[in-house]
Amino acid sequence: MVSNGVNLSTPLEGLFRINVKQKRALERMKLLTVRDLLYHFPARYESSTDVKQIKDLVKGDQAIVYGTLKSLKTKKAFLTKVPMAEGSLVDDTGTLKLTWFNQPFIAKTFKEGVLVKIVGKVSEGKYGKSISNPEISYSDESPFQGNSLFKEGTSSFFLPIYPETRGITSRWFFHAISKILSDESLALKDDPIPEDILKKYNLPTQKTALVWIHTPQKHSHIEASKKRFSFEEIFFIQLKRLSIKKEYEKNPAFKIPADKEVLTRFLDKLGFPLTGAQSKSLKQILGDLKKDSPMSRLLEGDVGSGKTAVSAAAAYAVTHTHPDGKDFGHLQVAYMVPTEILARQHFESFIAYFKNSPINVGLITGSECRKFPSKIDPEGHTHISRAQLLKWVENGEIPILVGTHALIQDKVKFKHLALVIIDEQHRFGVMQRGKLAKKGDKEVPHLLSMTATPIPRTLALTLYGDLDLSVVDELPKGRKPIITKIVAPVDRKATYEKIKEELKEGRQVYVICPRIDEPDPDKETALRVKSAKEEAKRLQKEIFPEYNVGLVHSKLKPKDKEEVMDEFTKGEVDILTATSVIEVGVNVPNATTIIIEGAERFGLAQLHQLRGRVLRSNHQAYCYLFSDSKNEKSHERLRALTEAKNGFELAELDLSLRGEGTLSGAKQWGLGDMGMEAIKNIKMVEAARNEAQTLIESGDLGRYPAIKKHIEERHDVHFE
Ligand code: ADP
Ligand code: MG
Repeated sequence: MVSNGVNLSTPLEGLFRINVKQKRALERMKLLTVRDLLYHFPARYESSTDVKQIKDLVKGDQAIVYGTLKSLKTKKAFLTKVPMAEGSLVDDTGTLKLTWFNQPFIAKTFKEGVLVKIVGKVSEGKYGKSISNPEISYSDESPFQGNSLFKEGTSSFFLPIYPETRGITSRWFFHAISKILSDESLALKDDPIPEDILKKYNLPTQKTALVWIHTPQKHSHIEASKKRFSFEEIFFIQLKRLSIKKEYEKNPAFKIPADKEVLTRFLDKLGFPLTGAQSKSLKQILGDLKKDSPMSRLLEGDVGSGKTAVSAAAAYAVTHTHPDGKDFGHLQVAYMVPTEILARQHFESFIAYFKNSPINVGLITGSECRKFPSKIDPEGHTHISRAQLLKWVENGEIPILVGTHALIQDKVKFKHLALVIIDEQHRFGVMQRGKLAKKGDKEVPHLLSMTATPIPRTLALTLYGDLDLSVVDELPKGRKPIITKIVAPVDRKATYEKIKEELKEGRQVYVICPRIDEPDPDKETALRVKSAKEEAKRLQKEIFPEYNVGLVHSKLKPKDKEEVMDEFTKGEVDILTATSVIEVGVNVPNATTIIIEGAERFGLAQLHQLRGRVLRSNHQAYCYLFSDSKNEKSHERLRALTEAKNGFELAELDLSLRGEGTLSGAKQWGLGDMGMEAIKNIKMVEAARNEAQTLIESGDLGRYPAIKKHIEERHDVHFE
C-alpha cells in the first residue's frame, strides 16, 4: 500500500497488486477509484451465528457449512428413479451427506477435494445428518481456519457479502476495502453532507459510516450506515435536480394571463364537467403560466383520469394569447408523445378539442406531416410536405404541433413556443427534454410533463425532484372499477366463453402477449411465451372464428400499424392481438376487455397501464391475467393488481413487495441500492428534499465546495 496520502479520487491501480483478471473485472464494474470501491457496498451480510461446524448442526437449521467435497457421484433415486447427485462434506468435526435431486450435473461440475460453501436446511435420518438440494459454491477460505474473519471469542460477527463478478470474489473486496480503511493516510475530512445536517438526523460521518458498512461489529452499525448512505444518495439527487430547476427558472418565459372567458368557452365545448382533481390541476398549471418564469410541472394521474383534457385546456389558453402585447398571432404549443400511433391519436383529440376555434393543428412524425384544417375539407386534416409544415411552424401559422421525437430535431423552429407538453415523460430522457426546452428564442417555454406510470410518492419526489407535482387522483364520474381476474390454465376455456358474450354485445377486446422483439436471456421461457403472431392466428382459427382478429406489434411498419389501429378504432377489427406497443395512451372506448398472456412476465406498473386501456367508457370493463406460473411470489404480485384501488396504491404495494435491494428494481429506476432503501421511507425522502431545498434556496452552495464538487461529478440518474 502506498502511504503518501490516499483520498477518494486515488486510482485503485497502484494501490495494491491487481492481476489482469481482477483489473478487467473492476473495469467492468466501473470500480476505478478509492471512492468507487468504498462505495461498493455489501449486498448482504452473513452472520457467524449461521455459519456452523458439522458437529454443531441441528435438524431443521438453515445453515452455512464450509468443508471439503468428497465421494461425488451420480445415481438414480431408489424408488422414483429421479437422476441425482450425491456426495459428502467433511470438516474438522464430522461428515455431512449431500444430495441433489434432478441435478446430476453437480457431480460433474464440482471437483472432489476442494473447499466449498454449502447453504441449506439440515435434516437427520438413519444415516446421520444431511442436506438436500443445498446451494453450493467454491470458497477460498473457511471461517474456521487460518486467517479467519470470525475471530475466537466474538459471539456474533458479520461477514459482508459483495456482489461478485467473474474474476473477483467477495473475499477480495472485503480484504481490499479493509486495507484502504485501515490506511492511516486515508483522507476523508470533507464529508459531503454538512455537519449540522448529520447532527440533526443523527447520521454517522462518512468515515464512520464507511467503516461500519464494510466491517460492522454489530447490527446497529449496518442500520446506521445504511441510513446515512441512503440519505446521501437522495440528498444529492435532490441537490442536482433542484439546481437544474433553479437554473431553468432564471430564464424568462411568456406570461399567459389565461382569460376567464376564453377558458369558459373551452370548458363549455368539452361535453363533460372536469372532475375535481382535473380542475385543481388545471388551476395549478394556469397559476404557473401567469408568472414570467417558466413552469416545470409534472401532471401525474392514472390512465383514463383525463390528463389530455387538462393539457388541452392549458394549450387552449396559451394559443389564445397573442405574443408580446400584439393584438394578433398566437403563442405556440408543442405536444410530444413517445410513439407514432399516439401522435396520430393526440393529433385527432386536439382537433376535436380545437374544432371551433381559429387554431391550426400540425402533426409531425418520422413518417408523415399533416395539418388541420384541410383547405378542401374544413372538418378534416390533410397530408402536407415536411418543408411546408416546418415553414408554417416557423412563421407561427401552426400554433399547435403534435409529434414524436421528430419534434426535437434542430430543423423544427417555432416563432413563439410558449408551452411544451410531454406525454408519458418517463420515456424521454432529461437531455431530450432539455433540447425541447431550448427551442424558445429569448423566452424558454413552460414545461408540462405528464405520466400515468404509477410510482410511489417517494420515488416521484426523487426522480422528478426538478418538477412541481400535480396529481389527478380521481376518475371521471360513472367509471366502474375494472374487474380483474387471475386466470389459471384450467379456466381459460370458460373465460373465452365469457368474452364471447361481451363480443356479442358489440364490445371489443385486446389480447396482449409478452414482448417477442426483445432477446430473452432465458430461452426456455422464451419458448413458452406466447408470440403475438402465433396467438392471433390461433385465436382467429380456433377460438373466435366468427370475429375479426387483428395484429399489431413493434416490428410492423408505421403505416401498417396505423391501418390496423384505424380498423380497431372503427370497430372493423373486434379483437386486437398486440405486444405491449399499445401500452400507452391508446383510446378506444368500446374496447372493454383485455387479456394479458404470461401476465407474470410484466411489471405491475406496466400491467396497470395496460389494464387502463379498457377504462375508457362507462361499460363494465374486464381484465384477465392469464398466468400458468406456479410461483407464489408472482401470484402475490398479480393479486396486488386485483386488490389495489388505484395506481398510487398499487405503486406503494409494488414497492413493499420488492425485496430488499432488488437489483432489477433499482436498475429500472436508475437508482442505486441505497436509493431504493431510501424510497421506502417517506420521512427520509422528505427530509433530504427539504435540506437540499434549503441549501439551494440559501444560494450559498459556494460555502460547501465538497458538495459543489460532488454534484458536478455525480452521474445523474437516468430516466429511461
Ligand atoms: P389519460 O389521463 O389517460 O391521458 P385521457 O385524457 O385520454 O386520459 O381521457 C380518457 C377519456 O376520458 C377520454 O375519452 C376523455 O374524453 C374522457 N374524459 C376526460 N375527462 C373527463 C371527465 N371529466 N368526464 C368524463 N369524461 C372525461
Ligand atoms: Mg394520455
